[in-house]
Amino acid sequence: MLEKNRLRIALQKSGRLSSESYNLLIKCGIKINFQHNQLIAFAENMPIDILCVRDDDIPGLIVDKVVDLGIVGENVLEEKLFIKDNVKKKKFYNLLIRLDFGICRLSLAIPKNSAYYGLDSLKNKRIASSYPNLVTQFFYKKSIPFKLCILNGSVEVAPRAGLADVICDLVSTGTTLEANDLKEVQTVFNSQACVICRLGHIENSKQIIINKLMNRINGVIKARE
Ligand code: ATP
Ligand code: ZN
Repeated sequence: MLEKNRLRIALQKSGRLSSESYNLLIKCGIKINFQHNQLIAFAENMPIDILCVRDDDIPGLIVDKVVDLGIVGENVLEEKLFIKDNVKKKKFYNLLIRLDFGICRLSLAIPKNSAYYGLDSLKNKRIASSYPNLVTQFFYKKSIPFKLCILNGSVEVAPRAGLADVICDLVSTGTTLEANDLKEVQTVFNSQACVICRLGHIENSKQIIINKLMNRINGVIKARE
């Protein structure tokens, strides 16, 4: 059972951010006994509980104030908490620190043999992506019409399968694009992992732990440089 007075931190259960997120907390001096496939882990030496979930769930857990802190990629945050009217952009969380890992970019890529003479060559093309909001926002700002093909996996095979002309997917080294005969033509969004904090009143005892943790995270990041 989760106790209300313990700080709750959501981490990605298993994926690209998991090991670095767990290691960061361990380097901060939190003793956690992680068990495989466990949803909740309890810190032994600090009043902290860790929730291990899918990264897509972390923005919602923060907005709903189910957890106090979360470690998640900015790409997922922006996509999940996207609101159409940017002018009235509502604040859903506080970004406490960028972590310098999980560095990637959401990029547009097309088959290597396709001609490219700037974004206009993508006009009215079908774009496969797991990030419909970020893609839509990007093309809306450029006033370029396009069609969507929302896929939550295997985006890179969409052009070959005849499902789309273009993909908009996360890229770090570019090897996946290369393996699928695609070329990157435009960055849409730059991302890295960050620590976010929920809005609303935070009890003093929890705030003290958050401050302590943030000081230690800062120290870990500085030591890496
Ligand atoms: P989950 O099962 O938690 O939903 P997932 O499959 O959506 O996981 P991962 O592939 O583990 O997600 O990626 C998690 C995050 O890691 C991404 O949202 C992004 O912020 C970051 N990341 C860094 N490099 C890459 C990359 N090359 N490809 C994909 N994601 C990357
Ligand atoms: Zn995910």
